[in-house]
Amino acid sequence: MYFRQGKLKTFLKHIIDDYLTDNTKSHNDPNYHDHCWITEDFVNIVNWMTANIGVNLEIVEVLDVDDKVGNGFSVFIRKMGSENI
Ligand SMILES: [Zn+2]
Repeated sequence: MYFRQGKLKTFLKHIIDDYLTDNTKSHNDPNYHDHCWITEDFVNIVNWMTANIGVNLEIVEVLDVDDKVGNGFSVFIRKMGSENI
């Protein structure tokens, strides 16, 4: 899947590999805009973090199309054990 400017979608395995290898370098983009996600991908990343590295996050609400601007997505996340979003 391609995004604007011909960028490829970033798969969860790539994000996990970056995390496990402590890779914070830019891959190809000097502006550090290397990772491109759709809503489902971002939700999967949050769920993976919760299941695997103990960050204790809970997804409260997902707007696949942002209802304020309409050109992106919003994911409301709460730290488990907190009443604040
Ligand atoms: Zn990466």
